[in-house]
Amino acid sequence: MGNVLIIGAGGVGAVAARKCAMNRVLFPHVTLASRTLEKCEKINESVGGVLDVAHVDADNVDEVTRLIERVQPKVVLNLALPYQDLSIMDACLATGVSYLDTANYEPLHEAKFSYTWQWAYHDRFRDKGIMAVLGCGFDPGVISVFCAYAQKNLFDTITAIDILDCNDGNHGKAFATNFNLEINLREITQRGKYWKDGTWREIDPLSVSRDITYPEVGPRASYLIYHEEEESLVKHIPGLRQIRFWMTFSDTYIKHLEVLQNVGLTRIDAVSYKGVDIVPLQFLKALLPDPASLAADYTGKTSIGALVRGIKNGQPKAALIYNVCHHEACAREVGSQAVSYTTGVPAITGAMMMLKGLWKGKGVFNVEQLPPEPFLDEVARQGLPWQVQEMSLGEAEALVPLDMG
Ligand code: NDP
Repeated sequence: MGNVLIIGAGGVGAVAARKCAMNRVLFPHVTLASRTLEKCEKINESVGGVLDVAHVDADNVDEVTRLIERVQPKVVLNLALPYQDLSIMDACLATGVSYLDTANYEPLHEAKFSYTWQWAYHDRFRDKGIMAVLGCGFDPGVISVFCAYAQKNLFDTITAIDILDCNDGNHGKAFATNFNLEINLREITQRGKYWKDGTWREIDPLSVSRDITYPEVGPRASYLIYHEEEESLVKHIPGLRQIRFWMTFSDTYIKHLEVLQNVGLTRIDAVSYKGVDIVPLQFLKALLPDPASLAADYTGKTSIGALVRGIKNGQPKAALIYNVCHHEACAREVGSQAVSYTTGVPAITGAMMMLKGLWKGKGVFNVEQLPPEPFLDEVARQGLPWQVQEMSLGEAEALVPLDMG
C-alpha cells in the first residue's frame, strides 16, 4: 500500500511500529526514525528486523525533508513530541507528503497547547494537494471519532459532551507518568478550562473533582482538566453548549505532583546550577521511569469514553460510547502498556484510512471531520473494541451532573 515513515520511537511509536509489522500487507515498507537510533534498533529487533530504521532530529526541517525524500513515504506519522509538529508539517509541505499526529503543537518554552498553529497550515496543505490529520490517538482521536459517530448516527443535535478518562491500572512504581512526562505534567499543572454557553470558563488547576463511575471499573475520583480535543470539538459539533474533560488521578499521584510543584521540579524555565543551565522538568524526566518501560508489571485497565447528551427525534437522550483496554493484554500482544497502546493503535488505523483512501481531503483536518464508521470498524479489529450504552438524561445526570455543583 506504500511506504510509511514513523517519527518517534517512544512508548507510542513502539506500538505503532509493532502493529505495522503485524499488518505487513498494508504496511510492507515502514521506516522508524527517531532522535536516539538505538531505540529504533531495539524495536526493530523485537519485530524480527522487518523495519528500516534511521536517525533524525525532527526539530530540523531540512533533516526531516531529506529523510522523507529518501524514504518516499505516502504518509508521515508524527509520534515524537508536540514540539516537533510544525517542523514535521513544514517538511511534509516541502515534499508533498501527507501527515498524521496524535497531539497538537505546543511551544517548548510555553506550556500552551492549541490547534491554532496547525490550523493555520490548512491553505498550504490544500494548495499542495496533501492531507494533515490531527489528533489521531485515543483522546484526542478515538474519542473525537466517537463524537462524530454520535452526531451522525445517534443524535440530531448534540448539546453536551463529557469526556471520561480513567486509567485504573497499577504499574507498581511510586510515581510515573504513562506518556512523556514533560508533556503530561505541563498539561496537568496548567489552569483547567471548560466550554459552557459560548465561552471558555477557567478554573484553578485540579480544583474541581467528583467521583465518576466508569464502565468495568466503578467509581473513581476524577478531576476536571482542559484537554486539546475540546478546542476542535467546540468548532466541529454544531449546537454544542458544553464540553468538559474528566481524568482520574490516584491520591498518591496528586500527593507527588503537589510536592514536585512545591519544590519547583515542574518548572520549565532554565535554572543555573554550578554554571550549567538545567530545566527542572527535563531533569525530573531523566529521574523517573520511561513510560515505555512500565508495561512489564502493569496490571488493571483503562476505561475511556464520551458521555454525549442531546436530542433525537425531538426527545432528549444520552449515550456513553467507550472502550476498556487491559494493560496486561497489551503487554502480551506488543510488549507495551495500555496508554501507549490506545494511542499507537488509532495512529496506525488513521494511516490505514489514508492509505486506503477512506479518509481523503486536501488541507488540515481533525479526526471528527472524517468518516467515523470505517475508522471505528478497523480500530476495533486492531484491538480497541468499543461499546455504546444508551441511557436517559436522568442516568447521565447521575453519572456526571451537567452543572458543576
Ligand atoms: P515518549 O517520550 O515515550 O516518546 C517520544 C519519542 O519522540 C522519543 O523516542 C523521542 O526520542 C522522540 N523525539 C523527541 N524529540 C525528538 C526530535 N527532536 N527528533 C526526533 N525524535 C524526537 O512519548 P510517548 O511515546 O509517550 O508519546 C508520543 C506522543 O504521543 C506525544 O506527543 C504525546 O503527547 C502523544 N500522546 C497522545 C495521546 C492521545 O491519546 N492522543 C496519549 C498519549 C500520548 P528520545 O528517545 O531520544 O527521547
